[in-house]
Amino acid sequence: MLVGTFHEETRAKRKSVDNVTIIGGGISGCSLALRASELGLNITLIDSESALLARGSSNPLPLVRPTISLDFGPRGQFNWYAYLYAMRFYRMWSRSQPLGWREIEVIQLAKTETEFSKMKDAIKTLNLGQDFLRCIDREFPALTTVGRKTSSGILISGVGQLDKCQTGFAQAIRNRSIELVTEMPFIDLADGGSVGRCLIKSDIDPVVLANPQTVQRLVSDVCFRLQPIRGQSTRVVGMEQPLKYGLCGDGYLAGLDDGSVWSSGTFDLNDESEKLLNQDDSLNVDRIRHLFGPKKSSSDYRVLESWAGVRYATHDRMPHVGRLAQSAYALTGFGSKGFTWAPLATEIIVSEILGLSCPIERSLKKRMNPLRFN
Ligand SMILES: Cc1cc2nc3c(=O)[nH]c(=O)nc-3n(C[C@H](O)[C@H](O)[C@H](O)COP(=O)(O)OP(=O)(O)OC[C@H]3O[C@@H](n4cnc5c(N)ncnc54)[C@H](O)[C@@H]3O)c2cc1C
Repeated sequence: MLVGTFHEETRAKRKSVDNVTIIGGGISGCSLALRASELGLNITLIDSESALLARGSSNPLPLVRPTISLDFGPRGQFNWYAYLYAMRFYRMWSRSQPLGWREIEVIQLAKTETEFSKMKDAIKTLNLGQDFLRCIDREFPALTTVGRKTSSGILISGVGQLDKCQTGFAQAIRNRSIELVTEMPFIDLADGGSVGRCLIKSDIDPVVLANPQTVQRLVSDVCFRLQPIRGQSTRVVGMEQPLKYGLCGDGYLAGLDDGSVWSSGTFDLNDESEKLLNQDDSLNVDRIRHLFGPKKSSSDYRVLESWAGVRYATHDRMPHVGRLAQSAYALTGFGSKGFTWAPLATEIIVSEILGLSCPIERSLKKRMNPLRFN
């Protein structure tokens, strides 16, 4: 056996950084605050709202899951790495703080036979083992109740769901003595690009921008190309049987212990309104009807509660993760994947701030360079 050790000079040396300011207390800002404080950094977390995880991250039941496709390009690659890392991250934090974390099985439904054969090819190539990814056809018990158009798919074990994790994250942040400043929008936005110029100064402590709503206005000389996409989720009761598996395809369905189901997946481009819409609840209820067909009993599905949020996606659907200027970093643009992608993205940012080795290939990291559209 050949054993080697790194020469001292080749070992990455940790930079002497003590303080980091994070703008934005969504899932990306909170994940970063927790991880960076674990590494001994003093963190100030600033949010314009009165509570943490108040905007896109107030999502009541996000899933942490891989997407099975034949996309082995940068997005597919990052998605796998990030999913595996996120599972570890949430398992670990939920040991010390209840985050509503639960691991469930999810069926990713194929819309057509062609899509199903592509999924089969993908799992053959991935070769991850039947206990984790398994092709299932319409004979599978859970699918016999599902409508004819979606009769096959892939059963994924080990998908995470976070049931109303906001309080848990806020408590975890308090437990780590992170300085929290709420109801404080970072600078008067009317000041615009001058903040960008201030962040470029080398003598200030690192600032991480995890605020998709205003990052473009704060740093006007960088082109982020963030597109807002509004979505609404609806909690529904009236299923004939409790939903044993989560179902993903066109949107997703995930069940709670009380038998109710969150149906999620409306998609309104360039809409930043968080106002609840009845028509979107109807679309979400229709998703259930479409999957399970008309109800056998006379009572219909009933809406219990609704939630609307906005995700911000980039044009190439890769996030912005990395250095913007001497002391400024971007951690944003997670689209529909923030809960899955943020923990690994956080690790990339701390490694860059502290000068440690990067947890992913440099070529992949380059695809997330926040200056790539300039
Ligand atoms: C319908 C729907 C379903 C989704 N389902 C999933 C899912 O199943 N799995 C998954 O992984 N992801 C899912 N997502 C995506 C996920 O919710 C987002 O990607 C994630 O919430 C983004 O987190 P963030 O921290 O980047 O942004 P946000 O949560 O929006 O946080 C940004 C924070 O910055 C603050 N802020 C903004 N400007 C300023 C300023 N100037 N000063 C101070 N603070 C400021 C805001 O108040 C906010 O708290 C879904 C999204 C939607 C809409």
